[in-house]
Amino acid sequence: MEDVLRASGKMMDKLINDAARAIIAEADHLTALDQAIGDGDHGINMKRGMEAVLAEVPKLAGKPPGEVLKAIGMQLVMKVGGASGPLFGTLAMEFGKGLPSHPTRADITRAFAAAVAAVAARGKAEQGQKTMLDVLIPVSEALNAGASAVEVKAIALAAANATIPVKATRGRASFLGERSVGHMDPGSWSSAMIITAICNRLGDKS
Ligand code: ADP
Ligand code: MG
Repeated sequence: MEDVLRASGKMMDKLINDAARAIIAEADHLTALDQAIGDGDHGINMKRGMEAVLAEVPKLAGKPPGEVLKAIGMQLVMKVGGASGPLFGTLAMEFGKGLPSHPTRADITRAFAAAVAAVAARGKAEQGQKTMLDVLIPVSEALNAGASAVEVKAIALAAANATIPVKATRGRASFLGERSVGHMDPGSWSSAMIITAICNRLGDKS
């Protein structure tokens, strides 16, 4: 994974473009998920944020990956809104802050874990509450365990699906109590879509 990132800033551009386009393509589905257990704005929130990210990418050419992630995080905070905007923004900004200019896989793993911890602190949430952390934490653990891109993608998708039977105890869905059971958490699905896009691009090179 580090080789790919080191190879060229172009790979960073591709990863970000893929992730943003995956979310934009999935916007209607994300909205439908949020209509079931939230207020139905998650798709439109994420689409707006990712369109801002796509507009930002050309301005970031040649910058180190950490700087790119910090800039993207700021766009997400400013443009996504809702509960998820500051959380995805924190994820990207803290991930970026933790990366040296030529990150190794160990750097990426450590910085991602710190970024996920920052999301948990910001949202006062933990794993098992039917939020994006239900995907981000297993993905962070998989990276730490040395999983390949193919394995990480499978873990992210399974983790998003595993939010279906969970009763929400954080975020807007928690207002529904037991009625949140039987629906996938929208933020978990958007997290899985971003991770899938990145893993698809990296293939098994990691
Ligand atoms: P809002 O809930 O304000 O309408 P969105 O619909 O954009 O915002 O995002 C909802 C998603 O945000 C949820 O599906 C969940 O994954 C995530 N989320 C909400 N609250 C928290 C929290 N405290 N910690 C982590 N993730 C959260
Ligand atoms: Mg919502």
